Amino acid sequence: MAVADSGVGRSGQAPDLLIAGAGVAGLWLTVKAARAGLSVLLVEPGNPGCGASGGFLGALMPHSPERWNGKKDFQFKALVDLEEEVARLESETGALCGYRRVGRILPLTSERGRAAALDQIADARTNWGDRFSYEVHHAPERSGWPDMLRAPHGVVHERLSARLSPPGLIGALLSSLAVTPNVELRLGVGVMDVIPGEHKARLSDGSMVNYGHIALANGVDAFPLIARAAGLPANSLGGGVKGQAALLDARASPDLPLVYDDGIYVIVHENGHVAVGSTSEREFDDPVSTDGQLDEIVKRARKLCPVIKHAPVIRRWAGVRPRAIGRDPMLGPVPGAPNVLAMAGGFKISFGIAHRMADCLVAGITGSAGPAIPQSFAVEYHAAKAAGKTAAN
Ligand SMILES: Cc1cc2nc3c(=O)[nH]c(=O)nc-3n(C[C@H](O)[C@H](O)[C@H](O)COP(=O)(O)OP(=O)(O)OC[C@H]3O[C@@H](n4cnc5c(N)ncnc54)[C@H](O)[C@@H]3O)c2cc1C
Repeated sequence: MAVADSGVGRSGQAPDLLIAGAGVAGLWLTVKAARAGLSVLLVEPGNPGCGASGGFLGALMPHSPERWNGKKDFQFKALVDLEEEVARLESETGALCGYRRVGRILPLTSERGRAAALDQIADARTNWGDRFSYEVHHAPERSGWPDMLRAPHGVVHERLSARLSPPGLIGALLSSLAVTPNVELRLGVGVMDVIPGEHKARLSDGSMVNYGHIALANGVDAFPLIARAAGLPANSLGGGVKGQAALLDARASPDLPLVYDDGIYVIVHENGHVAVGSTSEREFDDPVSTDGQLDEIVKRARKLCPVIKHAPVIRRWAGVRPRAIGRDPMLGPVPGAPNVLAMAGGFKISFGIAHRMADCLVAGITGSAGPAIPQSFAVEYHAAKAAGKTAAN
């Protein structure tokens, strides 16, 4: 794909913002920063979307509506706004993101689960407002989606969840960059080191780049860079959790809601393909291989949703989700490192929140109004968690 090369960084002038990593986080940040008039140099050692953002699940699911907090509020607002964000991106680029607010079904497998779900109706009304309902039914609206045997105590049907096509969104963000001035995407190089005192970064080709600000949005590899910039041990701030997923040629109806049950996601996309995931593996040797654990997930998904019982698997994929030590995303200034920003740790929800995370950073750089960063996202918060963990060991 042709991407604009405005010469930012090559002309000898420091970009306002140097961004490491062209996953969903770095791409949204590039688009938002460029819209705000900043010059951006985005560096990526592989190809855009070659990391965790290269999958196909695209579930946009809210946290549960009870025990409301800053993180849940941030994600809720992000999920609400994403519909318009995607519509704008599509109309600017002509690219399609496969977005649809289809809602979500959660099977209820116990009487206790049903009672808790009934309690959450009021929480959803309070925290989500009237626009998105949260209902408990005795049976799913569509027969077999999911199988009644998997939902002996009924189902929750909420209408806030949505889905999009990850390759569609990544393609649309890239198309947006191609028509945006003041952006350079440099492939084949990564950020190796940040020298905060000098506002300089060393790239993997040996060159040094000056910057106004630098954002470390390079997925699981961001944590050691952020830690080093903050003067902390390299592996203290986060790591990766591997996940495997499969794509089935099911010719299912694209208006079917997501189904989520006990770690299994079943998501129908616009073309009728059904994405099924995911494993959660803390220990792994090969970050990108798939194995019998994925077969087991597919087997369980077929039982959960009999519509896909015989659908052939057409793709298997694995990636490593960035997970910060404090569990929540990591966003904002890196303490002790002027003009160094963190944008990492979206873990399982990056596709729903990356645009809003980008808004926070751009507002911080330009001094304009923007969303507040939840306290539990701050690098200091994660560093304190890391310190607590070290002390406990
Ligand atoms: C199986 C699976 C299913 C998932 N399902 C969902 C889902 O349904 N919904 C959802 O919201 N999320 C989901 N996720 C999580 C989501 O994919 C990730 O949270 C998200 O992709 C992280 O995006 P990122 O941009 O932070 O990192 P990445 O996508 O990993 O991007 C980081 C980029 O940085 C580059 N890079 C690395 N080192 C450097 C360097 N030194 N300098 C510059 N660049 C560098 C990498 O090459 C990469 O391209 C899933 C993840 C997995 C594995």
